[in-house]
Amino acid sequence: MIVYATHAGGRYLPIEESLREQPEGKRAVYINITNDCNCDCVFCLRSMKEMAKESSLWIERDPSVEEIIAELDRLPWEYVCEVVCCGFGEPLIRLDTVLAVLRRVKEQHPDVPTRVNTNGLGELEHGCEFAERFAGLLDTISISLNASNAERYLALTRSKFGISSYEAMLAFAEHCKPYVPNVVLTVVEKVENEEEIALCRKICAERGLTLRVRTYEDS
Ligand code: SF4
Repeated sequence: MIVYATHAGGRYLPIEESLREQPEGKRAVYINITNDCNCDCVFCLRSMKEMAKESSLWIERDPSVEEIIAELDRLPWEYVCEVVCCGFGEPLIRLDTVLAVLRRVKEQHPDVPTRVNTNGLGELEHGCEFAERFAGLLDTISISLNASNAERYLALTRSKFGISSYEAMLAFAEHCKPYVPNVVLTVVEKVENEEEIALCRKICAERGLTLRVRTYEDS
């Protein structure tokens, strides 16, 4: 499933089913950019292989820009309040695809806000800074902070880039600030205790970043 909406109980529904279940009102539309990821988080549904394969979010191959745009063009846009590039994996591994999709949304539906949900390791993945490419295309970037220090972050994410990942993720958040109106870092409430969340708040405050504490299902 490439384009879907989320519903109560952690369910992901194609837009037609979403509208059958909830005929009224606008909803966020999510785009599954890729299954691929540069992390292997201990809490990730992808790591539960059998569950992942059975999930409607698992895609057999990455969709092309044309395939994604074709699905977007079929959407009933009067019911769409936000477009979110995410994945069952890490969307910014396919940076050019994400940018092309965001550009299309802004060209066709300039009033609809856009968001990218990411682990924030895209600059390590691509070996360069690219936040300025989001200018005018992206309204919100939601970056998984996960932890208050590099060691715990690596233990949770098992990032393929190792111990430098944490600082690189925070640097990416700061690089986004001039180009993306809402830069939000997130931690998951059941993964972190109150003490750890307080430390995360302090780190974000020091860097002028916004922290959102989200529930496990609320991704
Ligand atoms: S970054 Fe996201 S998709 Fe990748 S392993 Fe972690 S939770 Fe899963």
